[in-house]
Amino acid sequence: MCLRTLRSLRHTLALRLTLWYGGIFAVSSTLAFALAFLLIAEVVREHTDEDLREDLQEYAAFMRLGGLDRVRTEMSVDAEGGEGHQVFFRLWRTDGRQLVATDLSAWAGLSEPKDLSARFADSDEPILETLALPWREHKVRVIHGPIAPGMVLQIGESLEDDEEFMAALFQGFLIVLAAIVAFGGPIGWFMARRALRGVQAITRTATEIAHGNLDRRVEVRAQGDELDALARTFNLMLDRIHALIIGMREMTDNLAHDLRSPLGRIRAAAEMILTDNGSKAEAEAMVATTAEECDRLLEMINTTLDIAEAESGAALLKLVEFDLVELVGDAVELFQPLAEDKQVTIAVDLPDACRIRGDRQRLQRVVANLLDNAVKYTPVGGRVTIELDDQGEWLKLSIQDTGVGISPAETARIFERFYRCDRSRSELGNGLGLSLALAFVRIHGGDIAVDSVPEQGSTFTILLPRPRPA
Ligand code: ADP
Repeated sequence: MCLRTLRSLRHTLALRLTLWYGGIFAVSSTLAFALAFLLIAEVVREHTDEDLREDLQEYAAFMRLGGLDRVRTEMSVDAEGGEGHQVFFRLWRTDGRQLVATDLSAWAGLSEPKDLSARFADSDEPILETLALPWREHKVRVIHGPIAPGMVLQIGESLEDDEEFMAALFQGFLIVLAAIVAFGGPIGWFMARRALRGVQAITRTATEIAHGNLDRRVEVRAQGDELDALARTFNLMLDRIHALIIGMREMTDNLAHDLRSPLGRIRAAAEMILTDNGSKAEAEAMVATTAEECDRLLEMINTTLDIAEAESGAALLKLVEFDLVELVGDAVELFQPLAEDKQVTIAVDLPDACRIRGDRQRLQRVVANLLDNAVKYTPVGGRVTIELDDQGEWLKLSIQDTGVGISPAETARIFERFYRCDRSRSELGNGLGLSLALAFVRIHGGDIAVDSVPEQGSTFTILLPRPRPA
């Protein structure tokens, strides 16, 4: 069980983040400490060298002021007692003869300096070096330098204090580094888990949704961070999917409902023909009705597919440049006989021409659908007016009627698939005309607006973007 938990932990982002950040933090801390350590070691060494240089200058002054005796006295004072283990002095002549030296019993293995005359022939600059003596635990820093003509003083100082200081510092760094690694891991784990809590919430919600609970939403905290933005976008996406599913459900319900009656009629007609009771003429009339019903069904299915294709963005537009005025004129001509039958007047107010770039066939269906509705829902003696207004960036084609009108509540729904207002049920139709018109206008980058007053009439306005210069 424990092993399985560990194995599943291995795949968590939180653990990977913790390890990455922990690792990067530990490596960068080690590098920073190493750099600090080297810099401090350098400063400490500089400081020791400076001390030795100052000592050398002091002895040069003693020599000037009090000669060899003074130098001897000062040496024995400086190397007195315990100091004899920390520092030694040797005064040499440049020919290699030792003049004075402090007690060297604690400095076994110390060799004699060579070629003093050659080393200081051209320069009085002191020479510094570090020695490792066989019987001493700590290294020794030694300075050689002339303090009078022909005399070279050698001062050696144990680096015990410096080395102990650096060792203590190193130990301190190690402790801090160990603490960083020890506490950094759990703190990093805690932080990563905290930061990823929002992601877990989204995952939980997504899982619930996957199990069928479509109403679930992710809680959006008020922090305004990336996870909040993700949660908000996720919820928006869910709202959209939910709306689409409801839309699809409604559409399939409506489709099934609308298919049932014509299919029933077709079946009844077929049965009657089969019973063979009627005359040949009656049978032929029934076959013709059945064919008509089939055509209506096919048209309904094809229109539904056309709308779906346009709304999904899969429709391929056949863009051509044409005259919109001519297209509207053709449509008016087509509906004129129908309008005359109903004693509905069609009036047009169009410019001479209006070039537009679009899918001619689809826009033809848009205008035909709106004009068909206007004539269909306008009672005898009414009037339909078509106007085209060129507004620069937009073209406004409005189809106004003095028909039955649409109530505000129904206006909001008339573009839904299969929606038909109650009062229009007596007219032929399937409730798809406006959905198709809107879908086709929208793929052209346009829109349709409606303005209607019940019992007075409606105005449908198609807005189309102006053709851009080729
Ligand atoms: P259909 O006309 O086939 O019923 P549409 O999608 O073209 O379907 O129209 C949807 C509904 O909008 C119609 O059933 C009708 O109630 C209403 N409608 C559309 N155009 C008009 C109009 N010009 N005047 C009044 N009502 C209209």
